[in-house]
Amino acid sequence: MDRTIIDETIRNMRERQFDAYYAENGEEALNLIGELVPDGSRVASGGSETLREIGFAERFRDRFSFIEAAPGAGPDEMKAAMRERFSADAFFLSANAITYDGRIFQEDGASTRVAPMIYGPDTVVIVAGQNKLVENETKARQRVKATACENCRRRSFATPCAEDGHCHDCRVPRRSCCTSVTLNFSRIPGRIKVIIVGEDLGI
Ligand code: SF4
Repeated sequence: MDRTIIDETIRNMRERQFDAYYAENGEEALNLIGELVPDGSRVASGGSETLREIGFAERFRDRFSFIEAAPGAGPDEMKAAMRERFSADAFFLSANAITYDGRIFQEDGASTRVAPMIYGPDTVVIVAGQNKLVENETKARQRVKATACENCRRRSFATPCAEDGHCHDCRVPRRSCCTSVTLNFSRIPGRIKVIIVGEDLGI
């Protein structure tokens, strides 16, 4: 992607009081995270293919204290871990789409990813590959839906989009995109930190 577009996006994000950065690759993004979030922080991760691809958990397993339910945890333990996310020092996730004018678009199923992004943790870190950047809101909404369809297909969810790759605004129990959130501005300067990576990451 043209670097001038990335720079323009970063400039626009900073005007919206998001701390925005550029990292050449996943390794640089991880180094930046190490500078932005102190060792020993209590953190949670929103379950992101991007973070998985760059090796976020492996790199910081011994440096951060992760809020997460134990493997095989029951519903009550899962619920407690999700609620604990709101008191994390830092919450990590990716973006479904970012427009050149600096807005961040997300969709979620249970909202356990978007809710702590909006409110709670002192710091939110969004890591997004350059492939998440799009020209305008229309393209962002198209990208978000395409991502939801792909997610459903990969996970074999019982949704119509898993079958044909198109959104039907379905009303089925396993619908994966129930909540749409747009971050337009951060009332708290710098609470939301965005690292745009100069390579394609996630879906
Ligand atoms: S609304 Fe339904 S069909 Fe559309 S992307 Fe979401 S899960 Fe798929």
